[in-house]
Amino acid sequence: MKKDMILEKSNLSYWLRQLRKEMLLIGPMHGENGDIVLKTVENIHEIVLDCPALIPSPKEFLFPQKEEMFGFSTEGTKNYRNSKRRLIFGVRSCDVSAIGLLDRFYGGKFIDDYYTARRENTVFISVGCNKPDPTCFCNGLGTGPFLSSGFDIQFSDLGDRYLVEIGSEHGLSIVKKFSHLFSKPQKSDYDDQYEAILSSHAMFEKRINLENARQKILSGSVEDSFWAGVAERCFECGGCVYECPLCTCFNVIDRKYSAIEGVRLRNWDTCMFRGFTKMAVNVWPAEKKIMRTKRWYFHKLLYYPEQFGRFGCVGCGRCTITCPGRIDMATIAYRLKVGNNED
Ligand code: SF4
Ligand code: SF4
Repeated sequence: MKKDMILEKSNLSYWLRQLRKEMLLIGPMHGENGDIVLKTVENIHEIVLDCPALIPSPKEFLFPQKEEMFGFSTEGTKNYRNSKRRLIFGVRSCDVSAIGLLDRFYGGKFIDDYYTARRENTVFISVGCNKPDPTCFCNGLGTGPFLSSGFDIQFSDLGDRYLVEIGSEHGLSIVKKFSHLFSKPQKSDYDDQYEAILSSHAMFEKRINLENARQKILSGSVEDSFWAGVAERCFECGGCVYECPLCTCFNVIDRKYSAIEGVRLRNWDTCMFRGFTKMAVNVWPAEKKIMRTKRWYFHKLLYYPEQFGRFGCVGCGRCTITCPGRIDMATIAYRLKVGNNED
């Protein structure tokens, strides 16, 4: 489904206030360290409307870094599945594209009830990027800076108003009760959106073609020495995996609170850690660092396209910002292209 409306900026605060009566509102806000993070909105006027493209990924709200799955005791089990209704405002197109893939991963052949319960109760309003960050490269992947489908609601900032594109029943459900706040778009609104899209595309500093990188790997011409050079710079901190809006690995542990009760937890895990998928017989499937770094890139560049028909990367650039070893998807794709792994 697709339905377009116009929302005057002066009506946004009122609309969000009304929606907050029915659901938890999460949006980009100043964090404790002066950064901008997605968090529960206490004061609507504090939402950072003009935030940079690179706010932290909303993955945490569907797949928390740490969650209690269920409690157990001699009395039985107690499920902690979370299904609170939430509106997450101000996410970016690359993250909406990532959520589309997370939906297929967690809601496909094997359904993850914890993820699905949260997803079914969460509506996302994304804002197309009028000004991409220098590290962004979604433009080469079709995952931003604006989307033509795959969103609940997409806002395009047209100065004094937003073009509001509704792309799902979820999205429609939070608009139709307040239809008096919206008006019908005119041709000039679409013209202004088109200008914003062209202007945004012209601002990208990176042009990364992951298909070239994939073909290079498939050709068999990438020597292990290339991956050894990558591994040498990896500190095994796991930052790239944690920050990536698409990485989905987790570990499950049981924590005992007393002789008769405990809780099952799941935590994000990372394939960059040596102990990842370590087996009880003291065997590591990817014991050497070169195997682990190579596997991350093979997963994103080869196995995702095989499984989902899309790369396991949406070009958000977070690995570029995060990695202390200057290893990131954009750099690796570039180095694969030029066949050089030197600084
Ligand atoms: S691999 Fe890097 S650029 Fe690609 S989606 Fe993950 S964090 Fe973003
Ligand atoms: S962020 Fe960089 S140093 Fe840390 S695990 Fe990832 S590749 Fe290695």
